[in-house]
Amino acid sequence: MNNANKWPLWPAVIHAKCPRCRRGKMFANAMYGFHGQQMLKQCDHCKLTYEIEPGYFYVAMFVSYGMNVAVLITLSVALSVLTGSTNPWLYVIVLLTASLILSPFNFRYSRVILLYWLTPGLSYQPEYSADKPESVLPASDPGDSIAPLNLN
Ligand SMILES: [Zn+2]
Repeated sequence: MNNANKWPLWPAVIHAKCPRCRRGKMFANAMYGFHGQQMLKQCDHCKLTYEIEPGYFYVAMFVSYGMNVAVLITLSVALSVLTGSTNPWLYVIVLLTASLILSPFNFRYSRVILLYWLTPGLSYQPEYSADKPESVLPASDPGDSIAPLNLN
């Protein structure tokens, strides 16, 4: 394998690139905008279908929930230590505001975390990072690199 063709993990995660080729985008538009976020159906580089099965991104809600709880606990402790206040409205206002401001971030990165680390059988495959993956690889179904989930 040629190391020059390897695309690094963290820039791909931060820029929400495809988990298989780390080149194609996962989202069609910016994280913060007036039109919401639109996730692409498949990678524009390696043709990986992001929604592996119908409703797959419901799982991302649990990831998003975990991220939100982590932020809220951290903020609550920080508020308590920094202000020493016992006024519940301070906490309600600050935590709700933080939760609202961070919701587009949570939406995007819960899906990124789900596809990068919580999807069995889906991993980085450097051969898909080539400039023209379809010329290197035989024509195949999108998502064929993903092992079928055994739900029994
Ligand atoms: Zn891809």
